[in-house]
Amino acid sequence: MYCPECQIEFRDGFTECSDCKVPLLPGKPQPSAVSEFDTNLDLVVVFETDDPIALAFAKGALEDAGIPFFVFNEISTLVNDIDPMLHKWFRIQVACDREAAARGLITPPPEPG
Ligand SMILES: [Zn+2]
Repeated sequence: MYCPECQIEFRDGFTECSDCKVPLLPGKPQPSAVSEFDTNLDLVVVFETDDPIALAFAKGALEDAGIPFFVFNEISTLVNDIDPMLHKWFRIQVACDREAAARGLITPPPEPG
């Protein structure tokens, strides 16, 4: 069983997606949402952060909207271990035809304090 909206697969016994409130369909998720990355669409960076919480927030917004995305880590864990002052820098990229929609979804979290 899977949700036709968000393409999440559910175990047997579920009849409705808890997120989208739509009836589940039998079988496996359609590959369409993923296959967009099999094309030669240009990817654009829509979000950059060194804050894992902000990253999770942005990813959640994109996932809710069903927008496929890539996340890149600029600095490896190895470097992070050598110099704790160096933060990882995350980048979220989406296909260029999703850029406007993605940017509209991702709003920077409020400044701490
Ligand atoms: Zn769903």
